[in-house]
Amino acid sequence: MAIATINPATGETVETFEAHPADEVQRRIAQAFEASQKLRTTNYAQRARWMHATADLLEAEVDKTAEMITIEMGKPIAQSRAEVLKCAKNIRYYADNAESFLAAEELADPSSVTASAAGTVWQPLGVVLAVMPWNYPLWQVIRFAAPALMAGNTGLLKHASNVPRSALYLDDLFERGGFPAGSFRTLLIGAGDVAAVIEDSRVTAVTLTGSEPAGRSVAGIAGQQIKKAVLELGGSDPFVVMPSADIEAAATTAVKARISNNGQSCIAGKRFIVHADVYDEFTRLFVAKMNALKVGDPLDETTDVGPLATESGRTDVAELVDDAVVKGAEVLAGGSAPDRAGWYYNPTVLAGLTDEMRIVLEETFGPVASVYKVADREEAVRIANQTTFGLSSAVWSNDPEEQDWFVANLDAGAVFLNGMTVSYPELPFGGIKDSGYGRELAAAGIREFCNLKTVWKA
Ligand code: NAP
Repeated sequence: MAIATINPATGETVETFEAHPADEVQRRIAQAFEASQKLRTTNYAQRARWMHATADLLEAEVDKTAEMITIEMGKPIAQSRAEVLKCAKNIRYYADNAESFLAAEELADPSSVTASAAGTVWQPLGVVLAVMPWNYPLWQVIRFAAPALMAGNTGLLKHASNVPRSALYLDDLFERGGFPAGSFRTLLIGAGDVAAVIEDSRVTAVTLTGSEPAGRSVAGIAGQQIKKAVLELGGSDPFVVMPSADIEAAATTAVKARISNNGQSCIAGKRFIVHADVYDEFTRLFVAKMNALKVGDPLDETTDVGPLATESGRTDVAELVDDAVVKGAEVLAGGSAPDRAGWYYNPTVLAGLTDEMRIVLEETFGPVASVYKVADREEAVRIANQTTFGLSSAVWSNDPEEQDWFVANLDAGAVFLNGMTVSYPELPFGGIKDSGYGRELAAAGIREFCNLKTVWKA
């Protein structure tokens, strides 16, 4: 795949980039390795100062950076600004909390292990490679980079080929904040060059956010190399609505959950599973709100839904919808691309889904919702759990017993009650099943790329 910025709102190629040649890749790995030797000798207070300075830069540059993101991958400009500011928030969160998350622990009774003292310390692993997707071109990277650098690791980034400007903006961001040169470096390489970087002895671990096939490939190579891996992969999250819920609020949130980021979010509600008693009311409201969305130029502040990030992404979405329609699905809204330049797809709602339709089990990465009518909570959970994914989930119910039952029975890395899934620096994030393994964010996220070293003293 060519490394290029192509504006999805117009289809115009804005800028193309040459991949880094092999010697430049080697030079950058060496820089990251040397920086890792330096960074592990710095203390939390020093790294926290550099982190806050980095967050200051993000905040000062928010408007320019947001425009870069929108032109590169098409998300509405207000959402791009929010993404940049969320990155700054996450950086400050780890600056302020890393030391306590990674504090040494002493065994209260060391005599039980025949020691005078015993416990654990957390230490950095070294150079961590991040293979990242285009959908949140800054946020996905920062949520790995902030904890990794605060723990004393350094980072190498292989970003998606369609967001090279974002990749290069991140290349020197931490250095501009004061981190030693090489603490974070971008590699402009294709997917086919990732294996060699994982296999490099100076690289100690890898994290991938992206599709399931990419995750399988990277995890396989990391496994062969016996290197730690974290995988944040796809999702087809259920959004369950039960009769005790506030149906108007559920429908409003359902629209936001489905169309945020132009429908291209791993944690978007994609399958709306609604109890028969409130199905008609919910569906009527949901369809009306989806039809009311403004599709258009993502640089326009009033736009709700911009284009999909790539032409192939739009083709994938259109094929899933067409497959369902040919097999008998009912189109309640949208169902096609608008007649205009750029890779737009109309907000779409499908009902009457049956098991032979691809959309039932596959991830829909665009503004397309599937609605299911269910008789009871058991059927809701059966449908919710029937995909191979297990990222997050949402349940709308005002019955506390029912809420607990869903929390216990949904196969997912998270359950959001009477809300939509959102990532917060303070809450662990990650999936089960084919959505991957490991966790990002919170204390769990910073510990993934650390060595928990046991210390025993006679
Ligand atoms: P993708 O095609 O898997 O690409 C993600 C990254 O992996 C890109 O940098 C890509 O490079 C690279 N890549 C692709 N195939 C590879 C391979 N065989 N070996 C090594 N690297 C490879 O995914 P995407 O289309 O950009 O992103 C959408 C997917 O990401 C969706 O499934 C979405 O659900 C998932 N996602 C998950 C999370 C989460 O936290 N769980 C968050 C966001 C997105 P190139 O661009 O050069 O191909």
